[in-house]
Amino acid sequence: MEHVFDELKRSLMEVQDLRIAAGLMSWDQQTMMPPRGAATRAEHLATLSRLAHERFIAPRIGDLLERLTSYEASLPPESDDASLIRVARRDYEKQCKVPAELAEEQARAASQARVAWIEARRNADFAIFLPYLERNVELLLEYAACFPEHADPYDALLDDYESGLTATEVETVFNRLKEVQPALVAHVTAHQDAVDDAVFWGHFPAEQQRTLSIAIIEHFGFDPEGWRLDIAPHPFASKTSTTDIRLTTRYNESHLAESLFAGMHECGHGLYEAGVSPTLERTLLSRGCSLSLHESQSRLWENLVGRSRPFWTFALPIVRSVFPDQFGAVDEETVYRAANKMHPSLIRVEADELTYNLHIILRFELEREMIHGRLALRDLPEAWNAKMEQYLGLTPPDDAHGVLQDIHWSGGGFGYFPTYALGNLISVQIWDRLQDDLPDLTEQMSRGEFAPLRTWLGERLHQHGRKFTPRETLQKVAGGPLDPEPYLRYLTAKVQSLYGPIR
Ligand code: ZN
Repeated sequence: MEHVFDELKRSLMEVQDLRIAAGLMSWDQQTMMPPRGAATRAEHLATLSRLAHERFIAPRIGDLLERLTSYEASLPPESDDASLIRVARRDYEKQCKVPAELAEEQARAASQARVAWIEARRNADFAIFLPYLERNVELLLEYAACFPEHADPYDALLDDYESGLTATEVETVFNRLKEVQPALVAHVTAHQDAVDDAVFWGHFPAEQQRTLSIAIIEHFGFDPEGWRLDIAPHPFASKTSTTDIRLTTRYNESHLAESLFAGMHECGHGLYEAGVSPTLERTLLSRGCSLSLHESQSRLWENLVGRSRPFWTFALPIVRSVFPDQFGAVDEETVYRAANKMHPSLIRVEADELTYNLHIILRFELEREMIHGRLALRDLPEAWNAKMEQYLGLTPPDDAHGVLQDIHWSGGGFGYFPTYALGNLISVQIWDRLQDDLPDLTEQMSRGEFAPLRTWLGERLHQHGRKFTPRETLQKVAGGPLDPEPYLRYLTAKVQSLYGPIR
């Protein structure tokens, strides 16, 4: 049976190599490529994606998977080989259900919608985007219908980003957040003067911001021999292997906090990818388990570490050495408070720990209404603004600052948003859990020693890659199922320590 397994593994590795080549071209497109490369690059990417897809759903793969059923059963389920067969079979069966013409039509509609969305946003005119959004939603419903095992079509969409999660589960968790978070927002809004973030505003040359970012994330685990940090308009992390991690960031020369926290955030994603077991290299298991688990890692390093008091004991001297004029006389308390400034804002990507989930809940609720046909798409801007008012007490001045701000819907990415909020919740579930095993964590962080934390995360989470389902993986790392309470306790305590007690 081993030669059958070897053939499967070799074939899947070739598919993976094609996907990685596409990923690298896409990284290049967003960081290095001169603008005139764009037209041909789209063709390169389309070819690589098509080849990878065709090779993956080839009848020969199905045949090999079929013949390996008893071999798989003979192996320990947690072994690399059994996991590879199991996950490959799940991916294979799923991808075989989608007709090639539908996938192609979705890709075409998405690239046309992307162009329309850019123009609509530039003109703050939703009407330009409307017909393209309607087409995307129509195709998403066709796509969801390929998976009749999901009674709710939204579940089929969610499954692409968070396998096994249902809209009902998300709704239950989000309803709980809605009981607590809006009152915290009202408290913070009423006590805005309590926290001042002026220290992060001024003039900070990009080159020095880069020096600072790298000085900090090298302590987290950024390895100059195996990692890069480049500039991209929308920061992201990607990898070609566990020893080739690509982070991106952007520099706002008048606001230091942006690149500082973006760097820590993307480093968290990078540490997850770098920490996958080397025995899984080049297989489809060599990546983070799901989007929410991935986001839990970026948020853990950005917020639980980067916005903590002990972190600033360690980091302030480094910040002072790079920006002596601005930070020479700033004390730890001031910079810690500034790093935790909270206020309701219109734009999701600029939102703080307190308001972020509310931006997501709004999108999740609107997506479900759209998919279930309960909201006519032409009424979307009004529905958006009403929820902004309800959850954050703000009304967007125009659609560019409202319904048109995110790229996701133009690409047909429905079901993606909830994973951001779930990542926030999971980050605190994990943080609570690791306190027992790392009693000296506070002291370690204040000395810039992050290896014990990184090792703990590596053993409980990173090394497994995609071997287990998101639910199983969450159980392993957090010791229980998804639970909003740790996050709400954390947030309530933090809001009160910064903005005064809520009476
Ligand atoms: Zn992220």
